[in-house]
Formats: sequence, C-alpha cells, structure tokens
Amino acid sequence: IIRFDNVSKSWGSNQVLKSLNFDVRPGEKVSIIGPSGSGKTTILRILMTLETPTEGTVTVDGDVLWSVADGEKARETRQLRQTRRKIGMVFQQFNLFPHMTSLENVMEAPVHVLRMDRKEARDRAADLLNLVGLGKHMSHTPPQLSGGQQQRMAIARALAMRPKVMLFDEPTSALDPELIGEVLNVIRNLAHSTDMTMLMVTHEMRFAEEISDRVVMFDHGRAVESGPPERIFKNPLEDRTRTFLRAVL
Ligand code: ATP
Repeated sequence: IIRFDNVSKSWGSNQVLKSLNFDVRPGEKVSIIGPSGSGKTTILRILMTLETPTEGTVTVDGDVLWSVADGEKARETRQLRQTRRKIGMVFQQFNLFPHMTSLENVMEAPVHVLRMDRKEARDRAADLLNLVGLGKHMSHTPPQLSGGQQQRMAIARALAMRPKVMLFDEPTSALDPELIGEVLNVIRNLAHSTDMTMLMVTHEMRFAEEISDRVVMFDHGRAVESGPPERIFKNPLEDRTRTFLRAVL
C-alpha cells in the first residue's frame, strides 16, 4: 500500500535518504527502528507531504504521491490531495488545537475537510473518544489534560478521517514514563483489532517486537534489514543492527 522507489532526500549536502527502496503491504504493521538522524521521521513526513523528496517515486494505495526525477523540483501530483486523506499521522508533539474541546478537536477535520454533517461527526467523535478511553473528557481542552490523554486525543483525531494508513512518529517520546503505557495500550488495541496499515517509528523496542508484523532497521538513510520482529531482535543479520540493539536494549 506504500512504496518508496529509489527515494532520496537531501538538505544541502546532507543526504538523509539514499536511494531508498521500501514498501508496506496492506494491513501490515511495520515498525521502523534505527539511530537518531537515520531518516526515519523524514519518511513519514514525505508520506504526509510535509516534505518533498529530491528524487524518486512514492506510491500510496496505487496513487503516485511523488515522482521526482533527479535535479527536478518536486511538484504536487493531481491526486495528491485525495491520496493524502488516506493517511493519518500521530506526531511526537500532539499538534492539537489548544482552545478546542476533545470533541471539537476530533470533529474538526471530518466537518471541514470531508464536509461531514455535524451531528454525524459529533457521534463519531464521541465513539472514537470512548475507544481511546477519553469518554469522560469530551468537553475538556488539551491544556486541561495530561500528555498521555492529549496523545490519545491525537490518535482519535487521526482516526476520525478513516485513514487506510496510520503513521506514528515516536508517539510516546514526549511523555512522562508513567503515561507511556496508556498510549501504547491504545495503539496495541488498534493494531490487534483493525486491518488498517500501520507504520510506526519507535524507540520502544519491546513494543515494536510485540505488535509488529515486520521491523525495518534504518541507518544512514537506508533500510539495512527488514524481517519479523523475532528475527530482527534475536538474530539480526547485520552488524549495524546488532550494535544498535546492543546500545538500546
Ligand atoms: P530521530 O530519531 O532523532 O527523530 P530520525 O531518524 O527520525 O531521527 P530525521 O528526523 O528523519 O531522523 O532526520 C534525518 C536528518 O535530516 C537529520 O540529520 C536532520 O538534521 C536532517 N533534517 C531533518 N529535517 C531537516 C530540515 N527541515 N532542514 C535541514 N535538515 C533537516
């Protein structure tokens, strides 16, 4: 459902992605691990069209999101806006509207982007807030809630657009340790109960091992190896993976 073909990304002389080839099958739950600066977040930002590749082709659900020849400037493809709607993202920083209630935060995009009827959007938002355990906090605004609650609200907000693909960028890295579990629980339940495709950048190795169908190790802008979590964590083929895991586990 996601395909990167020979994708490169540079900022000046800093080549962050190097002729990357990488794909994710429909319904697959994939975790990306790897050292800081290896280009993990950049992949998600290219999928969200928050960054443009310098070269290569990115396809989502059969639509070309980006197709850039070397030396050319990236241009938005015509279907880009439609394709972007198939993707939801949860950021490290929750990116919520601070002055709006939980309910309003979750309703906002369906009403304004999908032009959903307000009543329907409200009902769906309430269901989603219940799903993430925020049923009692529908009329609270983000500043009245804990970081874990805000991140769960952000997950509900992304789900409200009924994405085919959910991207998670280190969703617990900005949280106090005691709040991490509640957010991981919500993501775990989603992984186990939906056929949504999930692509997650994470430093939570145990969690990646538990919920992923496949783990991809990144280093210096390349996918150095990819495989089922049991193999990657217990029996990595590449030295770079072994060194990285030794440092973080
Ligand atoms: P981390 O785990 O620290 O988030 P990462 O693997 O997700 O790391 P990226 O965030 O993708 O890494 O960044 C890769 C490189 O790209 C870094 O060297 C970073 O400095 C650089 N970079 C990212 N965004 C920009 C930008 N807007 N301008 C210039 N350089 C950038």
